Amino acid sequence: MQNGNKCRPALIKDFELMKYPILAYGDPVLRKKATAIAPDEYPHLKELIENMFETMYAAHGVGLAAPQIGLSMRLFVVDASPFADDDKSLEGFKKAFVNATVLEETGEEWPFNEGCLSIPDIREDIYRQKNVRVSYYDENWKHHEEAFSGMAARIIQHEYDHIEGKLFTDKLSPLRRRLIEKKLNDISKGIVDVEYKMKFPAATTGN
Ligand code: ZN
Repeated sequence: MQNGNKCRPALIKDFELMKYPILAYGDPVLRKKATAIAPDEYPHLKELIENMFETMYAAHGVGLAAPQIGLSMRLFVVDASPFADDDKSLEGFKKAFVNATVLEETGEEWPFNEGCLSIPDIREDIYRQKNVRVSYYDENWKHHEEAFSGMAARIIQHEYDHIEGKLFTDKLSPLRRRLIEKKLNDISKGIVDVEYKMKFPAATTGN
């Protein structure tokens, strides 16, 4: 989430020390339900997570999911500390979520003007429930079952949608979606102003 060719697992090692380009709206990887990770399959998980944080910070994001860098894995990272001014509990809120499952969402839906690093230059009011309870593993394969609310829940819900192959634009009314359709198509083609590295699925000339 914003504050603002399909990679195979075998390639992760090669990418270890570089930042990833972020896939733009229209890339089929963003529409796939991502698969769970097994510990022995991904010995470089910690490095991958570090690089995802770096990529996210470079793009001024507060959340980034593996499908957004072309990896269809159930993994996302969150750093909610930019919101700590409004909510002290978010100070140092930096977490990786491996094989996350949302167990329960409760509370009233509330709107927030969301953006997504894969959909630059579009922000929309999105309604989500206030609380979420999640089962997940951290970067050390320690299991957690934890409840989050407010902005922390919001970011987790947005990133969780990514590993389910969903985007925040799916939640818009048909009318609203029609109004931004041209803009979404332009983003797929790379016709958008963006200051971080992206990969556009329908670009005709390079990236
Ligand atoms: Zn997003």
